[in-house]
Amino acid sequence: MASDPNCIFCKIVKGEIPSFKLYEDAATLAFMDINPVHDGHCLVIPKAHSANVFEIAPEDFAAAARTTAKLARAVKAAISCDGFNLMQANGEGAGQSVGHLHLHILPRKSGDGLLFNWDPKPGERDRIAAIAERIREFL
Ligand code: AMP
Ligand code: ZN
Repeated sequence: MASDPNCIFCKIVKGEIPSFKLYEDAATLAFMDINPVHDGHCLVIPKAHSANVFEIAPEDFAAAARTTAKLARAVKAAISCDGFNLMQANGEGAGQSVGHLHLHILPRKSGDGLLFNWDPKPGERDRIAAIAERIREFL
């Protein structure tokens, strides 16, 4: 299984540094975020190292998604909040600070002012259609 000796989350997988472990299976690990935005903020990672969504094996991403769904239900049952975001950053420009793919299970409180929400404004249909066309070319 791919592992990076300099990666903090690989070190958590190997038990070289401590974590508040919640769950693990053969392919994934879930643990509490040490800088929680709210109670219950936790992370799900594939055990195999990959930096981001562009590098991860699709089956590892699928396994991480399965674990995320399981954990989200448990966190929802365990804490009180007003909603949840699932968040996964790719690249510094998107706010990724740890280079091992991870999904945040992020409980939300009404009015908490987290900045990754935006006011939806209708886009131009022609532009949306043209960009959809461009994306489909790569599928
Ligand atoms: P991101 O900014 O999306 O890359 O998220 C990285 C997350 O990992 C942050 O929310 C950090 O608080 C969290 N984090 C970093 N180091 C650890 C650690 N040793 N144990 C648990 N969470 C960590
Ligand atoms: Zn890693």
